[in-house]
Order: sequence, then C-alpha cells, then structure tokens
Amino acid sequence: MFLLASCSKPPQTSEEQVTEVAPAAQHTLLIEQSRLSIYHPVDLTSDLSHLSDNQKRMLSLLIDASKIMDDLFWQQAFNQDKSAFLSAIEDKDVRHFAEINYGPWDRLNGDAPFLSGFEEKALGAEFYPHDMTKTEFESANFEDKQGLYSVVKRDDTGKLFTQPYSKAYSDELTKAANLLKEASALANNEEFKQYLLLRAEALLTDDYLASDMAWMDMKTNPVELVIGPIESYEDQLFGYRAAFEAYVLVKDLKWSEKLAKYAAFLPELQQGLPVESAYKAEMPGSDADLNAYDVIYYAGHSNAGSKTIAINLPNDERVQLEKGTRRLQLKNAMRAKFDNILVPIADTLIVPEQREHITFDAFFANTMFHEVAHGLGIKNTLDGSNTVRGALKEHASALEEGKADILGLYMVQSLLEKGEITEGTLKDYYVTFMAGIFRSVRFGASSAHGKANMIRFNFFAEQGAFEKTEAGLYSVNMEKMGTAIKALSALILTLQGDGDYDGVAELVANMGVIKPALAADLARLEAANIPVDIHFNQGKEVLGL
Ligand SMILES: [Zn+2]
Repeated sequence: MFLLASCSKPPQTSEEQVTEVAPAAQHTLLIEQSRLSIYHPVDLTSDLSHLSDNQKRMLSLLIDASKIMDDLFWQQAFNQDKSAFLSAIEDKDVRHFAEINYGPWDRLNGDAPFLSGFEEKALGAEFYPHDMTKTEFESANFEDKQGLYSVVKRDDTGKLFTQPYSKAYSDELTKAANLLKEASALANNEEFKQYLLLRAEALLTDDYLASDMAWMDMKTNPVELVIGPIESYEDQLFGYRAAFEAYVLVKDLKWSEKLAKYAAFLPELQQGLPVESAYKAEMPGSDADLNAYDVIYYAGHSNAGSKTIAINLPNDERVQLEKGTRRLQLKNAMRAKFDNILVPIADTLIVPEQREHITFDAFFANTMFHEVAHGLGIKNTLDGSNTVRGALKEHASALEEGKADILGLYMVQSLLEKGEITEGTLKDYYVTFMAGIFRSVRFGASSAHGKANMIRFNFFAEQGAFEKTEAGLYSVNMEKMGTAIKALSALILTLQGDGDYDGVAELVANMGVIKPALAADLARLEAANIPVDIHFNQGKEVLGL
C-alpha cells in the first residue's frame, strides 16, 4: 500500500455552504505489489558503429521527435496532466508502472484501474467526449465522423463535431515537423530525406498519403522511422481513430536479405489459402517487402503496455493495393522476449519431450510470417460495400490479428513443404506457436492480440490440437493441429469476406475469453514470476549518442 497526493479537484459545493478545502483524495494501489514487476527491464541497444556522425546526429533528432509523439499519446490516452499525475505518485515502482501504462489503467488486465479514485477507462479513450454514447454517435451527423486523424468534441450547444489533429495538437506537431525537417538535412539517403520532409508536411496537414507512398518507395535507407498517428487499437469504442506513436530503427542488412526471398511467394500462397476462391480474389501487393531491424526507440502507443516486435505498415488500403506493405521485424526486441518470456513459459507449461522444439528460429519465423500474412486474404467485403475493417468495426483488429497469426503458420507450413524454409521442422513451428499463445493471452482482453489468442486457444481446445497431461502440461497433437489451422483460417477469412459483424461479435463473446483451466495455467506462470512483457531502458544515453 502507498499513498499519493490528490490529483482530483475538490468536490463542488452548493452556493450556501462555506467552501472548505477538501482533504486530499488518496489513491491506493488496487493490485498486488508483485504485479508491478510483470515487465522485465531490457536495455534497448544496437550496434551503431557502421553509422556516420551525421547519421548519429540524425538519430538524436528522430528520438526527439518521437518523444513528442509520446507526449501526444499521453493526451490521447489519459485526460489529466501527465506530469502532475506522475509526480504525485510517491512510490517509484508504482510511478514506473503508471508510465508503462500511460495512465492509471492496467493495459494487460483489461484496462482495470490499478489506482483507486479513477474511473473506468473510457472505451473511446480521449478521442471522444466521455459522456457520448455509441447510439448518439451513430445517429449524429457531422463531418469526418469516422476520421482516423480527428478528435470528436462537443460544441457549446452540445452538438458533436470533429477537430483535426493538426489543429488539436498544433504546437506539438509543429515542433515535431521541424525536427523531422532538421533531420532530413542530415540524411544522406535521398529517399529517406524525401520521406522525412513529406512526413513533416503530413503532421501539419493530416494527409499522410504522400508520405506513406514515399515510405514504401524507400529501399536502401540504413535508418528507418515510423512516426505519426498510425494504429487505431486505442480507440476501443469504434476503432476509427489513430494513436500517436514512433519507432526509430536501424536496418539489419544481413537478415533483411534473407527475408526478402519470401515476399515473392505471396501471390502463390494467396491462391493456396484453405478457403473458397471468392475469399481470396484480391491480389496481394507484389513488391511487398520484409526487413529486419534493431529498434532503438519506442514512443507513444507502441511503447504502452506490451511492446510490438513486428510491424506491418502502412494501414492505408490505397497504399496497400498500389504498393503492398512493408513488414518490419524488430529482432533485438524479439530476442529479448524469447529469452526472458517464451523459454520460461515453455519450461512451465509444455511437456518436457516437446521443449526442445522451442527455438528462436521458429519464434522469429512465426512472428515474421504473421506480418506477411496480414497481406493475405482480402481488404474489402465480398459484396463490395465496405472495407473489412469498416464492416467489423471494433472487432476488426482482433480478427485481423487472429488472421495474421493463423495464416502465418499456414505459410510456414507451405514453405517448409516446398523446401523453401530449411531451418527446423514443422514440430518446432507448432510447439513454439503453442507456447506463443500462452505468452500472448497474457496481454489480456483489452489488446487485439490478446483477444485473438484467446479465440485461437479455445478453438484449438475444441479441435483437439493439443492435449493436457495429468501433470497439467500441454502437448501438441501434430495431426489435429494441422486440421485446426485450416479450419480456423477458413472461418476467419469467411467472416472477413462476409463483413459479418454479428458473427464476429458472437465469436469474440464466446471464444475471446479465458476459461478457468487456462486461467489456472496463467496463474502458474505468474507464480513462477515469469514476466508478461518487457519494458525498455531507452534513449540517447543507453545508445551512447
Ligand atoms: Zn499483426
């Protein structure tokens, strides 16, 4: 237990009463002290010795711009002043936990408040007025209603309207844009220079299309930057609005070369998907590329709660159809999770005779092919009336992540059969995938990835894809796993193609939950003090910049 000073206003008093200064409200910790250490600390470093002094100065500027994205994400996630909130927390472990969560809600526990005195987190975060209901939003008529880059507010008469990010956050975005322009002057890669300039422009105009296109055109840049309002997971009310984030990355040229060859198989693998042909009629982008990186800075949404280890961007369907997507595998972050989380999980929950099949190669490949698999399937519903994302609304992300997971495994399986993948055996990929589910369901139901993994776990259980021994250890059934992968792939692709909102809602309600047996297993991981995720000691100092 600990106390911290109030950060809430004194209660309103009626006119007649003598106003007294309200006693400071005290926030107490609502979770076990041990939960504060579910994030294992990792120094985020990389070998920068091949970079020039100019490139290093450029990295510093990119980190500065990223820090602004971090501040903006705080504003999107939490309705109080960040500094006042944090400095009022006396206990440093609690304060650190609040920093990781970007507010008083536990992101890996369904956003439950971990400090007393705070309301439930609004599903729409700070993208919408807290008192707005879904019905009100749906029946109201105003501009940019489903906008990715605007905040919904109320005017003086109570009517809803939107304010574009470039207006709502104009000071911060102007600063960030200036930093990107400054960095562009130091870039010696022409395409990267161009991208930084266009991205700076996008931050000021809310039009990201040109910069997304330019980002896809960059091929030889050794330094990489993802920055801006990008993913819409933080908007759990509708999934419409994008949260600010940034990644500063250094390309791993050797690994990237190795990965490049797989992209060529996308069209062929699309054809082979285990679903009726109508559900695979779209052609995946042909110049899709796949690269490995060390990430040297995470900011905003990407740094909140669990840390992303692979990225697939851009999200704009127009760019995807014209240029495909880029998949970024964050190798140093991935290795950190494998060593500190996945191996200990397998040692606790997988039968001893299958533990040798837990390999970094398989973990890396499963994660890599998850990203590739986002490019498979279809983006628009079969009747052409909507995008899949638009039709499935707040469930779109969970289903899309579930699709990528299962089709990623389908791809590995296909490429192993063709002899294109030569590392490891199918058993390595299945068993490592299974252990990966335990790792991911710990992300909780508030994360699209967590929910996707719950659905898959329950689906696999129904299909007999794994067995549980008397000692409570899991054993993958190779044959039934193969069948289950096909069945789940078909189910998800069909729901997406049909834009079947009700069907998905039902699937999420029935299967996107942790049942008692699994809850008991997760408790065993907790009792064994296996971290749920990692957090980074990061920045210029750690990097020696
Ligand atoms: Zn994904």
